[in-house]
Amino acid sequence: MAILVTGGAGYIGSHVCVSLLNAGFDVIIVDNFNNSYPEVLHRIENITGRTPINMPCDIRDRMMIEKILKNHGCTSVIHLAGLKAVAESAGCPLFYYDCNVVGTLILLQAMQSIRVKNLIFSSTAMVYGLPEYLPYDEKHPLVPENVYGRTKLIIEKMMADLYTADPEWSFTILRYFNPVGAHESGLIGEDPKGIPNNLMPIISQVASGRRKKLTIWGDNYKTKDGTGIRDYIHVVDLANGHIAALKMMEKPGVHLFNLGCGKGFSVLDVIGAFEHVSNRPVPYIIGPRRPGDIAEFFTNSEMARKELGWEAKRDLHQICADMWNFQVKNPQGYRQKES
Ligand code: NAD
Ligand code: UDP
Repeated sequence: MAILVTGGAGYIGSHVCVSLLNAGFDVIIVDNFNNSYPEVLHRIENITGRTPINMPCDIRDRMMIEKILKNHGCTSVIHLAGLKAVAESAGCPLFYYDCNVVGTLILLQAMQSIRVKNLIFSSTAMVYGLPEYLPYDEKHPLVPENVYGRTKLIIEKMMADLYTADPEWSFTILRYFNPVGAHESGLIGEDPKGIPNNLMPIISQVASGRRKKLTIWGDNYKTKDGTGIRDYIHVVDLANGHIAALKMMEKPGVHLFNLGCGKGFSVLDVIGAFEHVSNRPVPYIIGPRRPGDIAEFFTNSEMARKELGWEAKRDLHQICADMWNFQVKNPQGYRQKES
């Protein structure tokens, strides 16, 4: 079976491609390299011994997407391409609506015209907004707090409307919690362009000396140590969740799953675990709260366990160890291997 993976060169996408290739699927990657490097394709090949087909293109290029779906006989799409920085989304909303919402609309139009009606979508815990209760389950109210989360919610609703109009469609919507870690080989991992926004890549760069210190955004939340609490999930567990989700493709409908590990860790927990694993200090200062931040959230992945037979297996120690391995082997990220 040939699977088209949009955003397949990105952080999560590259791990999804490895899981797909290892499971015997053929993989066609569509990526515009807006936030990734072509070097990642060689790394995927090194890990799996198989070559994904690379189609450098934007998801908004409908003619090209139709051609790719048709020429490669794709049966399903895993849709990860998109923009994901919360703060940036507030400053450039149209950029986000265009890439995420319009991009998905055009992708769906292309799929519909070629009659490929199976899609797995990367959504986010951000669609829930302020917790009315924890852990979040899939029935929690959906009131996103930021532009990024709203783009994802609009896409989810677009998919539900399309299914209502045409019940041949199968949508599996995966709401990711906080993906972290790297492949155990140290060949692929997270290497965002510019200064990272997320906690784990910054910690890793501080431990390695690439950055001097970390700012903890607030230590006066009503949490056990005052710092923010999140549900960190190893990216390989997350990638394997997509293989489990391919099972749902047999069933038309809109299937929704939270993918997380079901436990919350504070910023100080994560710093402590990383220092322990790397045996390096992670200097930090306390700064003000980050606008729009939520004190605490984590999930209940019961639904994924029951219906997909999936659960996260790797713990925080493994996450830090794999992240550190990637950092040590790639001190400047993928760039050192470019050109
Ligand atoms: P990433 O930036 O590493 O990967 C996204 C990939 O999509 C990049 O390779 C980028 O070049 C590509 N891309 C972006 N816009 C494109 C377009 N218009 N056409 C073609 N390619 C395009 O991000 P990631 O962390 O791997 O996230 C993947 C998906 O998962 C995103 O949709 C993101 O919203 C979602 N998600 C991520 C997180 C997280 O914390 N990393 C959490 C929840 C959900
Ligand atoms: N965080 C922090 N300093 C940073 C980046 C993040 O203290 O430089 C905190 C942030 O306030 C939150 C947690 O780390 O409590 C996870 O943040 P991240 O951006 O990784 O995930 P998100 O908030 O998007 O779930």
